[in-house]
Amino acid sequence: MLSTVIAIAEQVRTGQRKAVEVAEESLRAIDTLDHELHAFLAVAAEPMIQQARLVDQARERGEPLGLLAGVPVAIKDAICTRGLVSTAGSKILSGYVPPYDATVITKLRAAGAVFPGKTNMDEFAMGSSNENSAYGPARNPWDCARVPGGSSGGSAVAVAARMAPAALGSDTGGSIRQPASLTGTVGVKPTYGRVSRFGLIAFASSLDQIGPFATDVRGAARVLSVIAGKDPRDATSLDVPVDDYEAACGKSIRGLRIGVPEEYFAQGLDPEVEASVRAAIASLEDDGCVVKPVKLPHTRYAVATYYVLATAEASSNLARFDGVRYGLRVREAHDDLRAMYGKTRDAGFGAEVKRRILLGTFVLSAGYYDAYYLKAQRVRTLLRRDFEAAFGDVDAICSPTSPTPAWKLGEKMADPLAMYLSDVYTLPASLAGIAAMSVPCAPTRGGLPVGLQIMAPALRESTCFSLAAAWEARLPTQLPPLGFER
Ligand code: GLN
Repeated sequence: MLSTVIAIAEQVRTGQRKAVEVAEESLRAIDTLDHELHAFLAVAAEPMIQQARLVDQARERGEPLGLLAGVPVAIKDAICTRGLVSTAGSKILSGYVPPYDATVITKLRAAGAVFPGKTNMDEFAMGSSNENSAYGPARNPWDCARVPGGSSGGSAVAVAARMAPAALGSDTGGSIRQPASLTGTVGVKPTYGRVSRFGLIAFASSLDQIGPFATDVRGAARVLSVIAGKDPRDATSLDVPVDDYEAACGKSIRGLRIGVPEEYFAQGLDPEVEASVRAAIASLEDDGCVVKPVKLPHTRYAVATYYVLATAEASSNLARFDGVRYGLRVREAHDDLRAMYGKTRDAGFGAEVKRRILLGTFVLSAGYYDAYYLKAQRVRTLLRRDFEAAFGDVDAICSPTSPTPAWKLGEKMADPLAMYLSDVYTLPASLAGIAAMSVPCAPTRGGLPVGLQIMAPALRESTCFSLAAAWEARLPTQLPPLGFER
Protein backbone atom coordinates (compact mmCIF):
# COMPACT_ATOMS: atom_id res chain seq x y z
CA MET A 1 0.00 0.00 0.00
CA LEU A 2 1.16 3.52 -0.74
CA SER A 3 2.80 5.13 2.26
CA THR A 4 2.85 8.79 3.23
CA VAL A 5 4.01 11.86 1.32
CA ILE A 6 7.11 12.29 3.48
CA ALA A 7 8.07 8.59 3.39
CA ILE A 8 7.73 8.35 -0.40
CA ALA A 9 9.72 11.53 -1.02
CA GLU A 10 12.46 10.24 1.29
CA GLN A 11 12.57 6.77 -0.28
CA VAL A 12 12.78 8.24 -3.78
CA ARG A 13 15.41 10.79 -2.77
CA THR A 14 17.66 8.17 -1.20
CA GLY A 15 17.14 5.71 -4.03
CA GLN A 16 15.40 3.11 -1.86
CA ARG A 17 12.51 3.17 -4.31
CA LYS A 18 12.14 4.28 -7.89
CA ALA A 19 9.56 6.95 -8.65
CA VAL A 20 8.31 4.71 -11.45
CA GLU A 21 7.56 1.91 -8.98
CA VAL A 22 5.59 4.29 -6.78
CA ALA A 23 3.65 5.57 -9.80
CA GLU A 24 2.86 1.98 -10.83
CA GLU A 25 1.64 1.20 -7.35
CA SER A 26 -0.70 4.20 -7.45
CA LEU A 27 -2.02 3.11 -10.86
CA ARG A 28 -2.58 -0.45 -9.62
CA ALA A 29 -4.65 0.84 -6.71
CA ILE A 30 -6.71 2.98 -9.09
CA ASP A 31 -7.18 0.00 -11.35
CA THR A 32 -8.40 -2.22 -8.52
CA LEU A 33 -10.60 0.26 -6.71
CA ASP A 34 -11.77 3.05 -8.90
CA HIS A 35 -14.41 1.22 -10.91
CA GLU A 36 -16.28 1.11 -7.59
CA LEU A 37 -15.20 4.43 -6.04
CA HIS A 38 -15.12 6.67 -9.14
CA ALA A 39 -12.67 9.11 -7.58
CA PHE A 40 -11.13 9.89 -10.96
CA LEU A 41 -12.69 11.52 -14.01
CA ALA A 42 -9.48 10.95 -15.96
CA VAL A 43 -6.49 8.75 -15.19
CA ALA A 44 -3.18 9.97 -16.63
CA ALA A 45 -1.26 6.68 -16.58
CA GLU A 46 1.25 7.39 -19.37
CA PRO A 47 1.99 11.02 -18.46
CA MET A 48 2.48 10.02 -14.80
CA ILE A 49 4.96 7.24 -15.65
CA GLN A 50 6.73 9.75 -17.88
CA GLN A 51 6.96 12.28 -15.03
CA ALA A 52 8.23 9.58 -12.68
CA ARG A 53 10.87 8.54 -15.19
CA LEU A 54 12.18 12.11 -15.30
CA VAL A 55 12.49 12.09 -11.51
CA ASP A 56 14.44 8.80 -11.58
CA GLN A 57 16.70 10.10 -14.33
CA ALA A 58 17.40 13.31 -12.43
CA ARG A 59 18.42 11.21 -9.45
CA GLU A 60 20.70 9.03 -11.55
CA ARG A 61 22.40 12.17 -12.83
CA GLY A 62 22.96 13.19 -9.20
CA GLU A 63 20.72 16.26 -9.41
CA PRO A 64 19.06 17.45 -6.21
CA LEU A 65 15.45 16.27 -5.97
CA GLY A 66 12.45 18.36 -4.91
CA LEU A 67 10.41 18.06 -1.72
CA LEU A 68 7.79 15.92 -3.46
CA ALA A 69 10.06 13.78 -5.64
CA GLY A 70 8.00 10.90 -7.00
CA VAL A 71 4.97 11.65 -4.81
CA PRO A 72 1.62 11.00 -6.56
CA VAL A 73 -0.71 13.96 -6.06
CA ALA A 74 -4.24 13.63 -7.46
CA ILE A 75 -5.66 16.86 -8.86
CA LYS A 76 -9.20 18.17 -8.57
CA ASP A 77 -10.68 18.59 -12.01
CA ALA A 78 -11.28 22.32 -11.42
CA ILE A 79 -7.53 22.94 -11.60
CA CYS A 80 -6.09 23.47 -15.08
CA THR A 81 -3.46 20.99 -16.20
CA ARG A 82 -1.69 21.52 -19.51
CA GLY A 83 -2.50 18.75 -21.96
CA LEU A 84 -4.86 16.99 -19.53
CA VAL A 85 -8.63 17.32 -19.71
CA SER A 86 -10.08 19.70 -17.08
CA THR A 87 -13.88 19.69 -16.91
CA ALA A 88 -14.70 20.98 -13.40
CA GLY A 89 -17.20 18.10 -13.29
CA SER A 90 -19.34 19.80 -15.95
CA LYS A 91 -20.65 18.72 -19.34
CA ILE A 92 -20.08 22.25 -20.60
CA LEU A 93 -16.32 21.68 -20.34
CA SER A 94 -16.31 18.10 -21.58
CA GLY A 95 -13.16 17.52 -23.58
CA TYR A 96 -11.63 20.87 -22.60
CA VAL A 97 -7.84 20.59 -22.55
CA PRO A 98 -6.20 23.69 -21.03
CA PRO A 99 -3.21 25.12 -22.90
CA TYR A 100 -1.50 26.03 -19.61
CA ASP A 101 -0.87 24.82 -16.06
CA ALA A 102 -2.32 26.43 -12.95
CA THR A 103 0.43 27.93 -10.78
CA VAL A 104 -0.04 25.19 -8.17
CA ILE A 105 0.59 22.59 -10.87
CA THR A 106 3.76 24.36 -12.02
CA LYS A 107 4.97 24.37 -8.41
CA LEU A 108 4.13 20.71 -7.84
CA ARG A 109 5.92 19.72 -11.05
CA ALA A 110 9.00 21.68 -9.99
CA ALA A 111 8.97 19.83 -6.65
CA GLY A 112 8.97 16.47 -8.45
CA ALA A 113 5.33 15.46 -7.82
CA VAL A 114 3.59 13.18 -10.32
CA PHE A 115 -0.10 13.30 -11.25
CA PRO A 116 -2.24 10.13 -11.37
CA GLY A 117 -5.16 12.06 -12.82
CA LYS A 118 -8.06 14.45 -12.38
CA THR A 119 -10.53 13.85 -9.59
CA ASN A 120 -14.30 13.81 -9.50
CA MET A 121 -16.17 16.80 -8.10
CA ASP A 122 -19.54 18.47 -7.88
CA GLU A 123 -20.08 20.49 -11.04
CA PHE A 124 -18.15 23.78 -10.75
CA ALA A 125 -17.55 22.89 -7.07
CA MET A 126 -21.21 23.46 -6.19
CA GLY A 127 -22.27 20.80 -3.76
CA SER A 128 -21.51 18.88 -0.61
CA SER A 129 -21.87 15.28 -1.71
CA ASN A 130 -20.29 14.85 -5.16
CA GLU A 131 -23.70 13.94 -6.53
CA ASN A 132 -23.76 17.12 -8.64
CA SER A 133 -20.93 15.77 -10.78
CA ALA A 134 -22.10 15.55 -14.39
CA TYR A 135 -20.17 12.28 -14.60
CA GLY A 136 -21.74 10.40 -11.68
CA PRO A 137 -20.74 10.59 -8.01
CA ALA A 138 -17.62 9.33 -6.28
CA ARG A 139 -18.35 6.93 -3.43
CA ASN A 140 -17.16 6.83 0.15
CA PRO A 141 -14.60 4.02 0.63
CA TRP A 142 -15.81 3.47 4.20
CA ASP A 143 -19.24 2.54 2.87
CA CYS A 144 -19.86 2.64 -0.86
CA ALA A 145 -23.57 3.36 -0.32
CA ARG A 146 -22.59 6.70 1.21
CA VAL A 147 -21.39 10.02 -0.21
CA PRO A 148 -17.77 11.09 0.23
CA GLY A 149 -18.76 14.73 0.73
CA GLY A 150 -18.05 17.51 -1.68
CA SER A 151 -17.25 19.28 -3.70
CA SER A 152 -13.69 17.86 -3.73
CA GLY A 153 -15.03 14.36 -3.04
CA GLY A 154 -12.88 12.60 -5.64
CA SER A 155 -9.68 14.03 -4.16
CA ALA A 156 -10.75 12.93 -0.67
CA VAL A 157 -11.59 9.42 -1.88
CA ALA A 158 -8.33 9.07 -3.81
CA VAL A 159 -6.43 9.80 -0.60
CA ALA A 160 -8.71 7.84 1.78
CA ALA A 161 -8.39 4.71 -0.35
CA ARG A 162 -4.65 5.27 -0.74
CA MET A 163 -4.74 5.65 -4.51
CA ALA A 164 -2.52 8.68 -3.85
CA PRO A 165 -0.98 9.89 -0.56
CA ALA A 166 -2.06 13.46 -1.32
CA ALA A 167 -4.38 15.46 -3.53
CA LEU A 168 -5.33 19.03 -4.31
CA GLY A 169 -8.83 20.33 -3.78
CA SER A 170 -10.49 23.71 -3.70
CA ASP A 171 -12.54 25.09 -0.85
CA THR A 172 -15.08 27.88 -1.29
CA GLY A 173 -17.32 27.10 1.66
CA GLY A 174 -16.01 23.77 2.92
CA SER A 175 -15.17 21.74 -0.16
CA ILE A 176 -11.84 20.49 1.21
CA ARG A 177 -12.63 20.24 4.92
CA GLN A 178 -16.04 18.57 4.66
CA PRO A 179 -15.02 15.70 2.33
CA ALA A 180 -11.84 15.26 4.41
CA SER A 181 -14.06 14.88 7.46
CA LEU A 182 -16.41 12.39 5.78
CA THR A 183 -13.56 10.21 4.45
CA GLY A 184 -11.11 10.22 7.37
CA THR A 185 -8.41 12.28 5.65
CA VAL A 186 -6.59 15.51 6.49
CA GLY A 187 -7.76 18.57 4.51
CA VAL A 188 -6.54 22.15 4.71
CA LYS A 189 -8.27 25.34 3.60
CA PRO A 190 -5.47 27.88 3.69
CA THR A 191 -6.02 31.57 4.40
CA TYR A 192 -7.63 33.43 1.51
CA GLY A 193 -4.69 34.51 -0.66
CA ARG A 194 -2.14 32.07 0.77
CA VAL A 195 -2.16 29.91 -2.39
CA SER A 196 -2.35 31.21 -5.96
CA ARG A 197 -5.59 30.53 -7.79
CA PHE A 198 -4.21 31.23 -11.23
CA GLY A 199 -5.61 28.39 -13.31
CA LEU A 200 -8.38 27.41 -10.89
CA ILE A 201 -11.73 27.36 -12.70
CA ALA A 202 -13.53 30.01 -10.65
CA PHE A 203 -16.69 29.47 -8.62
CA ALA A 204 -16.85 32.40 -6.14
CA SER A 205 -13.72 34.47 -6.40
CA SER A 206 -13.87 36.20 -3.02
CA LEU A 207 -13.92 32.77 -1.32
CA ASP A 208 -12.12 30.19 -3.50
CA GLN A 209 -8.87 28.74 -2.12
CA ILE A 210 -6.80 25.76 -3.29
CA GLY A 211 -5.47 23.44 -0.58
CA PRO A 212 -4.12 19.94 0.08
CA PHE A 213 -5.56 16.63 1.20
CA ALA A 214 -3.21 14.02 2.64
CA THR A 215 -3.23 10.77 4.57
CA ASP A 216 -1.48 12.52 7.45
CA VAL A 217 -0.87 15.99 8.86
CA ARG A 218 2.80 16.22 7.88
CA GLY A 219 2.00 15.25 4.31
CA ALA A 220 -0.53 18.07 4.07
CA ALA A 221 2.03 20.45 5.60
CA ARG A 222 4.61 19.56 2.98
CA VAL A 223 2.23 19.93 0.03
CA LEU A 224 1.02 23.29 1.35
CA SER A 225 4.59 24.53 1.80
CA VAL A 226 5.22 23.72 -1.88
CA ILE A 227 2.10 25.40 -3.32
CA ALA A 228 1.86 28.47 -1.03
CA GLY A 229 3.24 31.91 -1.77
CA LYS A 230 2.88 35.07 -3.81
CA ASP A 231 2.13 34.69 -7.51
CA PRO A 232 2.37 37.68 -9.85
CA ARG A 233 -0.41 36.04 -11.88
CA ASP A 234 -2.93 36.19 -9.01
CA ALA A 235 -3.42 39.70 -7.63
CA THR A 236 -5.18 38.28 -4.55
CA SER A 237 -2.21 36.12 -3.54
CA LEU A 238 -0.45 37.44 -0.45
CA ASP A 239 3.11 38.66 -0.48
CA VAL A 240 3.96 37.23 2.93
CA PRO A 241 6.73 34.68 3.62
CA VAL A 242 5.54 31.08 3.87
CA ASP A 243 5.99 29.54 7.33
CA ASP A 244 7.73 26.22 7.89
CA TYR A 245 4.60 24.10 8.26
CA GLU A 246 6.48 20.85 8.75
CA ALA A 247 8.44 22.32 11.64
CA ALA A 248 5.12 23.49 13.10
CA CYS A 249 4.00 19.84 13.17
CA GLY A 250 6.66 19.06 15.77
CA LYS A 251 6.10 22.11 17.95
CA SER A 252 4.85 21.86 21.53
CA ILE A 253 1.23 22.88 21.97
CA ARG A 254 1.58 23.48 25.68
CA GLY A 255 -0.10 26.72 26.66
CA LEU A 256 -1.95 27.22 23.37
CA ARG A 257 -5.43 28.58 24.03
CA ILE A 258 -8.28 26.79 22.25
CA GLY A 259 -11.72 28.36 21.92
CA VAL A 260 -14.82 26.21 21.78
CA PRO A 261 -17.80 28.07 20.26
CA GLU A 262 -21.16 27.02 21.71
CA GLU A 263 -22.80 27.99 18.40
CA TYR A 264 -21.04 25.01 16.78
CA PHE A 265 -22.43 22.48 19.24
CA ALA A 266 -26.06 23.30 18.65
CA GLN A 267 -29.20 21.69 17.31
CA GLY A 268 -28.64 19.40 14.35
CA LEU A 269 -25.28 18.11 15.59
CA ASP A 270 -25.11 14.32 15.61
CA PRO A 271 -24.43 13.15 19.20
CA GLU A 272 -21.70 10.73 18.13
CA VAL A 273 -19.92 13.46 16.17
CA GLU A 274 -20.17 15.72 19.20
CA ALA A 275 -18.73 13.06 21.52
CA SER A 276 -15.83 12.33 19.18
CA VAL A 277 -14.95 16.00 18.71
CA ARG A 278 -15.22 16.77 22.42
CA ALA A 279 -12.91 13.83 23.17
CA ALA A 280 -10.32 15.22 20.74
CA ILE A 281 -10.51 18.64 22.40
CA ALA A 282 -10.16 17.02 25.83
CA SER A 283 -7.05 15.23 24.61
CA LEU A 284 -5.54 18.54 23.48
CA GLU A 285 -6.30 19.88 26.95
CA ASP A 286 -4.47 16.89 28.46
CA ASP A 287 -1.53 17.85 26.27
CA GLY A 288 -1.35 21.25 27.96
CA CYS A 289 -3.72 23.43 25.93
CA VAL A 290 -6.02 25.84 27.71
CA VAL A 291 -9.60 25.24 26.58
CA LYS A 292 -12.19 27.98 27.01
CA PRO A 293 -15.60 28.91 25.58
CA VAL A 294 -15.77 31.61 22.89
CA LYS A 295 -18.72 33.33 21.23
CA LEU A 296 -19.29 33.60 17.51
CA PRO A 297 -22.76 35.15 17.69
CA HIS A 298 -23.39 35.70 13.97
CA THR A 299 -22.77 32.05 13.07
CA ARG A 300 -26.45 31.42 12.35
CA TYR A 301 -26.39 33.90 9.47
CA ALA A 302 -23.47 32.22 7.70
CA VAL A 303 -25.47 29.86 5.49
CA ALA A 304 -27.78 32.58 4.20
CA THR A 305 -24.90 35.02 3.70
CA TYR A 306 -22.79 32.48 1.85
CA TYR A 307 -25.58 31.40 -0.49
CA VAL A 308 -26.24 35.01 -1.49
CA LEU A 309 -22.59 35.94 -2.07
CA ALA A 310 -21.40 32.67 -3.60
CA THR A 311 -24.31 32.47 -6.04
CA ALA A 312 -23.86 36.14 -7.03
CA GLU A 313 -20.20 35.59 -7.81
CA ALA A 314 -20.90 32.29 -9.56
CA SER A 315 -23.52 33.85 -11.83
CA SER A 316 -20.90 36.33 -12.96
CA ASN A 317 -18.01 33.85 -13.24
CA LEU A 318 -20.05 31.32 -15.20
CA ALA A 319 -21.14 33.87 -17.81
CA ARG A 320 -17.99 32.99 -19.75
CA PHE A 321 -19.29 29.53 -20.63
CA ASP A 322 -21.28 30.47 -23.68
CA GLY A 323 -20.35 27.91 -26.32
CA VAL A 324 -17.95 30.31 -28.02
CA ARG A 325 -14.65 29.96 -26.19
CA TYR A 326 -14.61 26.68 -24.30
CA GLY A 327 -15.92 23.14 -24.44
CA LEU A 328 -19.45 22.34 -25.51
CA ARG A 329 -21.35 24.14 -28.29
CA VAL A 330 -24.85 23.15 -29.32
CA ARG A 331 -24.62 23.41 -33.08
CA GLU A 332 -28.23 23.16 -34.11
CA ALA A 333 -28.66 26.88 -33.38
CA HIS A 334 -25.42 28.02 -34.99
CA ASP A 335 -27.06 30.71 -37.16
CA ASP A 336 -28.60 32.52 -34.16
CA LEU A 337 -26.07 33.66 -31.55
CA ARG A 338 -28.49 34.21 -28.66
CA ALA A 339 -30.21 30.89 -29.26
CA MET A 340 -26.81 29.19 -29.42
CA TYR A 341 -25.84 30.69 -26.03
CA GLY A 342 -29.13 29.60 -24.51
CA LYS A 343 -29.15 26.09 -25.92
CA THR A 344 -25.51 25.48 -25.03
CA ARG A 345 -25.98 26.64 -21.43
CA ASP A 346 -29.20 24.68 -21.12
CA ALA A 347 -27.54 21.48 -22.32
CA GLY A 348 -24.18 22.08 -20.63
CA PHE A 349 -25.10 23.05 -17.05
CA GLY A 350 -26.70 20.72 -14.51
CA ALA A 351 -29.68 21.54 -12.29
CA GLU A 352 -27.72 22.84 -9.26
CA VAL A 353 -25.55 25.11 -11.39
CA LYS A 354 -28.64 26.53 -13.08
CA ARG A 355 -30.29 27.06 -9.70
CA ARG A 356 -27.27 29.03 -8.51
CA ILE A 357 -26.97 31.12 -11.68
CA LEU A 358 -30.66 32.05 -11.32
CA LEU A 359 -30.32 32.86 -7.60
CA GLY A 360 -27.13 34.82 -8.15
CA THR A 361 -28.53 36.80 -11.06
CA PHE A 362 -31.58 37.61 -8.95
CA VAL A 363 -29.66 38.90 -5.92
CA LEU A 364 -27.56 41.14 -8.16
CA SER A 365 -30.46 42.53 -10.16
CA ALA A 366 -31.57 46.17 -9.96
CA GLY A 367 -33.84 46.74 -7.00
CA TYR A 368 -32.69 43.63 -5.14
CA TYR A 369 -28.98 44.35 -4.99
CA ASP A 370 -29.23 46.46 -1.81
CA ALA A 371 -31.72 44.14 -0.14
CA TYR A 372 -29.72 40.96 -0.68
CA TYR A 373 -26.19 41.34 -2.02
CA LEU A 374 -25.19 44.48 -0.13
CA LYS A 375 -26.80 43.25 3.07
CA ALA A 376 -24.96 39.93 2.78
CA GLN A 377 -21.67 41.80 2.37
CA ARG A 378 -22.39 43.64 5.61
CA VAL A 379 -23.22 40.44 7.47
CA ARG A 380 -19.99 38.98 6.15
CA THR A 381 -18.15 41.79 7.92
CA LEU A 382 -19.97 40.94 11.16
CA LEU A 383 -18.92 37.30 10.82
CA ARG A 384 -15.33 38.35 10.27
CA ARG A 385 -15.48 40.57 13.36
CA ASP A 386 -16.80 37.65 15.42
CA PHE A 387 -13.58 35.81 14.65
CA GLU A 388 -11.40 38.86 15.26
CA ALA A 389 -12.95 39.29 18.69
CA ALA A 390 -12.64 35.59 19.54
CA PHE A 391 -9.02 35.43 18.39
CA GLY A 392 -8.25 38.28 20.77
CA ASP A 393 -8.62 35.65 23.45
CA VAL A 394 -7.57 32.33 21.91
CA ASP A 395 -4.99 31.01 19.43
CA ALA A 396 -7.31 28.56 17.68
CA ILE A 397 -10.96 27.54 17.59
CA CYS A 398 -12.03 23.88 17.51
CA SER A 399 -15.37 22.50 16.33
CA PRO A 400 -16.86 19.64 14.37
CA THR A 401 -16.16 19.95 10.62
CA SER A 402 -19.52 18.53 9.58
CA PRO A 403 -22.65 18.15 11.74
CA THR A 404 -23.09 14.53 10.66
CA PRO A 405 -20.99 11.68 9.32
CA ALA A 406 -21.36 10.63 5.66
CA TRP A 407 -24.97 10.18 4.58
CA LYS A 408 -26.47 7.79 2.05
CA LEU A 409 -26.31 8.57 -1.66
CA GLY A 410 -29.56 10.22 -2.72
CA GLU A 411 -30.60 11.12 0.82
CA LYS A 412 -30.40 14.91 0.44
CA MET A 413 -30.71 15.30 -3.32
CA ALA A 414 -34.39 16.29 -3.27
CA ASP A 415 -33.80 18.94 -0.61
CA PRO A 416 -31.20 21.60 -1.54
CA LEU A 417 -31.65 23.36 1.78
CA ALA A 418 -30.75 20.23 3.78
CA MET A 419 -27.66 19.92 1.58
CA TYR A 420 -26.73 23.58 2.17
CA LEU A 421 -27.12 23.15 5.93
CA SER A 422 -24.43 20.47 5.97
CA ASP A 423 -21.92 23.30 5.41
CA VAL A 424 -22.96 25.18 8.51
CA TYR A 425 -19.64 24.74 10.36
CA THR A 426 -17.29 25.29 7.42
CA LEU A 427 -18.83 28.39 5.82
CA PRO A 428 -17.91 30.93 8.53
CA ALA A 429 -14.13 30.40 8.17
CA SER A 430 -14.49 30.81 4.40
CA LEU A 431 -16.46 34.03 4.76
CA ALA A 432 -13.87 35.34 7.24
CA GLY A 433 -10.96 34.28 4.99
CA ILE A 434 -9.08 32.62 7.87
CA ALA A 435 -7.03 29.38 8.01
CA ALA A 436 -8.89 26.14 8.77
CA MET A 437 -8.36 22.43 8.52
CA SER A 438 -10.07 19.13 9.21
CA VAL A 439 -8.28 16.25 10.88
CA PRO A 440 -9.78 12.81 11.63
CA CYS A 441 -10.98 12.02 15.15
CA ALA A 442 -12.45 8.79 16.53
CA PRO A 443 -15.03 7.21 14.17
CA THR A 444 -18.67 6.57 15.01
CA ARG A 445 -19.79 3.19 16.39
CA GLY A 446 -20.86 2.33 12.85
CA GLY A 447 -17.28 2.92 11.71
CA LEU A 448 -17.79 6.20 9.84
CA PRO A 449 -15.10 8.90 9.98
CA VAL A 450 -15.56 12.12 11.97
CA GLY A 451 -13.54 15.31 11.50
CA LEU A 452 -12.26 17.87 13.98
CA GLN A 453 -12.11 21.37 12.50
CA ILE A 454 -9.27 23.60 13.68
CA MET A 455 -9.54 27.28 12.75
CA ALA A 456 -6.81 29.87 13.26
CA PRO A 457 -6.36 33.56 12.38
CA ALA A 458 -5.36 34.52 8.84
CA LEU A 459 -1.88 33.21 7.94
CA ARG A 460 -1.62 31.14 11.13
CA GLU A 461 -1.79 27.77 9.36
CA SER A 462 1.15 26.77 11.56
CA THR A 463 -1.06 26.84 14.64
CA CYS A 464 -3.51 24.46 12.93
CA PHE A 465 -0.65 22.13 11.99
CA SER A 466 0.82 22.07 15.51
CA LEU A 467 -2.52 21.17 17.08
CA ALA A 468 -3.46 18.69 14.35
CA ALA A 469 -0.11 16.89 14.57
CA ALA A 470 -0.34 16.65 18.36
CA TRP A 471 -3.83 15.19 18.13
CA GLU A 472 -2.90 12.83 15.29
CA ALA A 473 -0.12 11.37 17.44
CA ARG A 474 -2.83 10.19 19.87
CA LEU A 475 -5.07 8.65 17.24
CA PRO A 476 -4.13 5.47 15.39
CA THR A 477 -4.56 5.90 11.64
CA GLN A 478 -7.61 4.11 10.36
CA LEU A 479 -8.08 2.72 6.90
CA PRO A 480 -11.32 2.16 5.06
CA PRO A 481 -12.46 -1.47 5.02
CA LEU A 482 -11.64 -2.22 1.40
CA GLY A 483 -10.35 -5.46 0.01
CA PHE A 484 -6.88 -4.13 -0.74
CA GLU A 485 -3.57 -4.77 0.97
CA ARG A 486 -2.99 -2.94 4.18
N1 GLN B 1 -20.95 22.92 -0.32
C1 GLN B 1 -20.74 24.32 -0.56
C2 GLN B 1 -21.46 24.71 -1.82
O1 GLN B 1 -22.15 23.93 -2.33
C3 GLN B 1 -19.29 24.64 -0.63
C4 GLN B 1 -18.68 24.19 -1.89
C5 GLN B 1 -17.24 24.59 -2.03
O2 GLN B 1 -16.57 24.87 -1.05
N2 GLN B 1 -16.81 24.65 -3.27
O3 GLN B 1 -21.35 25.80 -2.28
